Amino acid sequence: MDTTGADDDLELDLAICTACGADITDEASAYGIPNGEWLCLGCAVARGGRFDAGDERWLAAPDLEGLALRPS
Ligand SMILES: [Zn+2]
Repeated sequence: MDTTGADDDLELDLAICTACGADITDEASAYGIPNGEWLCLGCAVARGGRFDAGDERWLAAPDLEGLALRPS
């Protein structure tokens, strides 16, 4: 079991898209849901989110309706 240097990456390793289950490999272009879950770029855009890749920020939030979100 290799535990070296895992602490800093733990949150990132566990991040998956709550809609499709894809690994979130780049948090800068994923949408962070306020309860700590994530939407991958594709799912967020499909739900109406608009991402400014130049500024790496969301101009419009995706619609979270219908997602099975964990209680925060
Ligand atoms: Zn997704």
